[in-house]
Amino acid sequence: MNKITTKNIPVSQMPNGDTLSIKVIDIKGDNQGPSCYIQASMHGAEHQGNALIYHILDYAESHDIQGSLRIIPQANPLAINTKTGNYTQGRFNPNTGHNWNRLYSNYTDNHPSLRTFAKNNINASDESIKNSYKKLLLELLEKEKELKSSYGKNQNKHHNLILQSLAANFDIVLDLHTAGKAARYLYAAEYLSSRCEELNFVHNIIIKNIFNGAMDEAAFMPWVNLKTEFKKLDKDYEIPFESYTLELGSEEMISLEEGKKDSHKVLEYLYKKGIIRESGFQEPLKKQYKCQTEDFKSYYAPNGGLYEYYAKPGEFIKKGESLAISLQLSNYGSKRQVIEEVKAKKDCIIINHCTSSSVIEGSEIYQVMENYYT
Ligand SMILES: [Zn+2]
Repeated sequence: MNKITTKNIPVSQMPNGDTLSIKVIDIKGDNQGPSCYIQASMHGAEHQGNALIYHILDYAESHDIQGSLRIIPQANPLAINTKTGNYTQGRFNPNTGHNWNRLYSNYTDNHPSLRTFAKNNINASDESIKNSYKKLLLELLEKEKELKSSYGKNQNKHHNLILQSLAANFDIVLDLHTAGKAARYLYAAEYLSSRCEELNFVHNIIIKNIFNGAMDEAAFMPWVNLKTEFKKLDKDYEIPFESYTLELGSEEMISLEEGKKDSHKVLEYLYKKGIIRESGFQEPLKKQYKCQTEDFKSYYAPNGGLYEYYAKPGEFIKKGESLAISLQLSNYGSKRQVIEEVKAKKDCIIINHCTSSSVIEGSEIYQVMENYYT
């Protein structure tokens, strides 16, 4: 049977002396196999990942797995606990203002150790490269931690480096998020643009193989950089590693029923990767739509006001159709319009809209997929 262990990793001490910590759940099967790291709630208002994880844990309690799973249900205790009234602030560190998912380290970029590693492993087997490279990554992360803490540990960097270290030894990294009022969608790197279909998301944003600060990028960049070093030596190396950001609908709410469907996507994916033995979780394969990052467009509020959002997440909208209207009663009695309409500039699929009707001019009100393809 699976061996399930838990531990708490301290992250940061609060002014009153309490220490915030991250709970880590490790599940190991009797047999060797691939390994998958899953974390949720790095943005504190994004809870649905916990509903997915609940069902994965439920499965792992009664079914043998092969290889291992590491699960971090609440990756960011400070973000989860930062409440204002009923709302979880969650997205930005209230202390520093930084976006919690833009602070990971790109610690292998132009690192001389990668060049040496590539030279020394040019004729090694893929399995041997994978295993010894993961050891190198853990060493480099330890050095990065030392380097970044010589004048004290930066709150954000330290936290993110802990998560990177916890994930560094794994074959797959899944970072569970949600958006405002959103459809379910997936971020996948260019090199995973075909492989990502195994997760069976309807909406897929294909991001460049570059670093922009997020966990999925921080996890795949060391492998992209290794591929680049091998390429310089004329070796064509297929990256064995996969990482994705899964966007599981809207923030601030959970649904265990929806979480069960979400967990089925992940369980079927884990079956295809050889971590679980049973298949058959998947809902029938859906038509999948993809777009490139530059076609994942944001609409910004043309004026301040109270917005009613007509276009709903998942809807296909034609150019010229109404997305939203804004109500601005301060314009009453003047020449300016009380009601303004925001129309679609191009055909698109609605992915996300702002959670509040009260909007400042220039705020992001919609995210949409344009120039999508199947
Ligand atoms: Zn997020």
